[in-house]
Amino acid sequence: MKRVTSLLFLLAFSLLKAQNSLPQDYFQNPLDVPIVLAGSFGELRSNHFHSGLDIKTQQREGLPVKASAAGYISRINIQHYGYGKALYIQHPNGYTTVYGHLQKLAPKLQEYLKKKQYAKESYEIELFPEAGELQVEQGELIAYSGNTGGSGGPHLHFEIRDGSQQPMNAQLFGIDVPDSREPLIEGLFAYALDEEAHVNDSQKRQKLRLIPTSNGNFTTNEVDACGEIGFGISAVDQQDGAYNHNGVFRIDASLNGEQVFEIDFDKFSFAETRNLNRLIDYQYYQSSRKRIQKLFKSPDNPLSMYGELQNYGKLNIKDSLDYQYTIKVTDFKGNEKTITIPIKGRSSNEISKETPPPNFTLVEAGKNFSAKENGIDISIPAGTIYEDAFMDIQFMGDTVKVHKDEIPAASNFTIGFDISEVPAEKRDQLFVARISDYGKPSYSSTYRNGNRITTRTRTFGTYTLATDIQPPRVSPVNFYDGQWISNNETLKIQISDDLSGINSYRATINGKFILMEYEYKNNTLTYDFSDNVITDNADNDLKVIVTDNVGNTTSFTATFHRKY
Ligand SMILES: [Zn+2]
Repeated sequence: MKRVTSLLFLLAFSLLKAQNSLPQDYFQNPLDVPIVLAGSFGELRSNHFHSGLDIKTQQREGLPVKASAAGYISRINIQHYGYGKALYIQHPNGYTTVYGHLQKLAPKLQEYLKKKQYAKESYEIELFPEAGELQVEQGELIAYSGNTGGSGGPHLHFEIRDGSQQPMNAQLFGIDVPDSREPLIEGLFAYALDEEAHVNDSQKRQKLRLIPTSNGNFTTNEVDACGEIGFGISAVDQQDGAYNHNGVFRIDASLNGEQVFEIDFDKFSFAETRNLNRLIDYQYYQSSRKRIQKLFKSPDNPLSMYGELQNYGKLNIKDSLDYQYTIKVTDFKGNEKTITIPIKGRSSNEISKETPPPNFTLVEAGKNFSAKENGIDISIPAGTIYEDAFMDIQFMGDTVKVHKDEIPAASNFTIGFDISEVPAEKRDQLFVARISDYGKPSYSSTYRNGNRITTRTRTFGTYTLATDIQPPRVSPVNFYDGQWISNNETLKIQISDDLSGINSYRATINGKFILMEYEYKNNTLTYDFSDNVITDNADNDLKVIVTDNVGNTTSFTATFHRKY
């Protein structure tokens, strides 16, 4: 009896292993608190798929972050934006773990980092320590959780990457996220995909009404269609312990019982992540802030998350035939929701079509496009857009409209402005601004070359020349000029810029560089007195120089006194 049980156990175990040959007990939860997710792997974000797990830290910073497995610190990356303060551990089994948005590193690592920051005289720094230099044990304290960089609230961004630095779903390695809830279906849409096709007599995107069935799934009213059509779904998943709308793990679809589409969020590469804009209905997202995932793709979409697709997920609906299309949305724990769509093939001679306005310009994806008027030029190189598009291009004085942000761009295009008419003394403060839908200008990376000023951007929209004459504002936060501040642990300074934005800053005390950490989210520079740049001076001169993106500079000075 005992032998039979263990044989059965062995069989079950090897079946499990066949499904997932990744190490299951190698990596541990990097926090001491249970895993509750603010974001899941592969979740749809702005221009990218989320590359890790966003683990909640009880709405606060400073939770100990521990090495998920033994290894060595292979990279320390400190940025104002992005991952903020981030650590990378290379493990002997070939995988790398990543820890982002950290508040600060553990003492030993913090000391290592500060030495390098002082040597480079820069807060932002990227370091690649050698193997053996900074060894860590599994469970060893490596940092404290924070909210640095592009983070919307305190959490730990945790990643597991394979040998080619492709992020993988950490849940595949046994990192357990309790989840007893089914995915949420937020919307269902149908698309006519060729010129003769229709869905319910229309070529326009159709929102279909979801009708709950008695078993908790959904169906729809019968869809009338003909020709090449496809579907799109808006779906999210909630795990236990939080209401965050996270990503689902798998979507598949079948037609009359045969699988025609599959996408799995188990792994991807950073090189392909921007193709998210082709998976979603980009125009719909820009106008509604809701993401529809299309259950069909263009032949040249290289996204690797697609599984086996029949005819790229597109359906060929023929007159007078009946079909049943089924979509299954699954989370990592296997909770699923099914939507069944009855389709009736019916040809139509009253199809309402969508035609572009007559003043729109055709821009072909595979060709260079350029236009010029009023000293403003637009250059959209071949391959900038994924598909041919009709664009709203208008020259209006010193402003140009290059459509709006409803067409995704794979790479940069250029807008140039002739500034030969602008008096020389006014040229330095010019920059290219993108005008938001609400009329607000924002700095767009600006390049100067003689009589020409250009921007390179991946965002379609309205651009103009703007002038920034205001230097940045700099003001002390936790001291004033001439004050005794012997008990201060830090020096805090607020910096901001009206128009073009902060470009750089540099601070010294008595002429010596001090490391100030910049937190753009609250416009604050912070110096930590424990860096011990000054150790015995009672009277100290602080100087902070802040420069904006067109080169306006503010030099702030203050004196403070300190006892040691
Ligand atoms: Zn994250």
